[in-house]
Amino acid sequence: MSTAPMTPTRVTVNDHPCFDEAARNRTARVHLPVAPRCNVQCNYCNRKFDCVSESRPGVSSTVLTPEEAADYVDLVRKDVPNLAVVGIAGPGDPFANAEKTLRTLRLVTQRHPDLLLCVSSNGLELPHHLDEVAELNISHVTVTMSTVDPEVAGRIYRWVRDGRQVYRGVKAGELLIERQMESIIGLKERGMVVKINTVLVPGVTLEGIADVARMAGDLGVDLMNCLPLYPVDGTPFGELDAPTAAEIAQARVSAQDYIPQMTHCQRCRADAVGMLGDEHGEDAVARLMAVKM
Ligand code: SF4
Ligand code: SF4
Repeated sequence: MSTAPMTPTRVTVNDHPCFDEAARNRTARVHLPVAPRCNVQCNYCNRKFDCVSESRPGVSSTVLTPEEAADYVDLVRKDVPNLAVVGIAGPGDPFANAEKTLRTLRLVTQRHPDLLLCVSSNGLELPHHLDEVAELNISHVTVTMSTVDPEVAGRIYRWVRDGRQVYRGVKAGELLIERQMESIIGLKERGMVVKINTVLVPGVTLEGIADVARMAGDLGVDLMNCLPLYPVDGTPFGELDAPTAAEIAQARVSAQDYIPQMTHCQRCRADAVGMLGDEHGEDAVARLMAVKM
């Protein structure tokens, strides 16, 4: 982990290094790996790895309790003076672990009320927690939305679990897209800054990227992050090719008339810390927590 050139005097909503590219050279973020479970199964995900909706496949993350995570933020704050954002992005879905996620952010904001809070979710459970998200002043939320076509969604998700009910195919797609839209509408009504992550899967989602962008633009989403598929061995999409540079560029061009594009995503781990692009070693959490012992 490296420290940064300067400390922001007062963190503002424009200091999120992912949502505002100008901020990436001045502010840092930390992801807290407190959310191990997931309520869907993406066909590109291997559960041994971090959530690739927001993260690049790597090693399994350490999973912290809310109390450990809050202590960890205290330590990071000393080590990374330009820390501006505390986020939760996995290793599973934050709202499939809602109690832990919300308790963690509550503890963090009690101790560090000046830091921005951020979460990234597949959107399935998020509509049930919109008021808590607002009450905690979570300012930045990402919803992964890769298609607006339920049939295509049925090909991305092997299953979607809502309470005790498991859905597959088109039914799974319909439910998830409905919840993602409900999430976005509810977040925008409450004044949050909203980004969508859209996974570019050749032969599956690529042809529909402009439709996703149009829908997101209509709903008032602030930013779209087109993430190329990272094929992971042993997953149903492991045999697919990653999109080419030309396909990625074409997808972004097809979307940019409807919604601004994020192009500086680093596909960070669920336990990333520091400035975007910093190398921080997979033992960053363990190293800092060991100092505390
Ligand atoms: Fe994996 Fe994330 Fe998809 Fe859940 S939402 S299955 S953790 S990629
Ligand atoms: Fe930001 Fe992308 Fe890293 Fe998430 S994965 S913290 S959006 S750079």
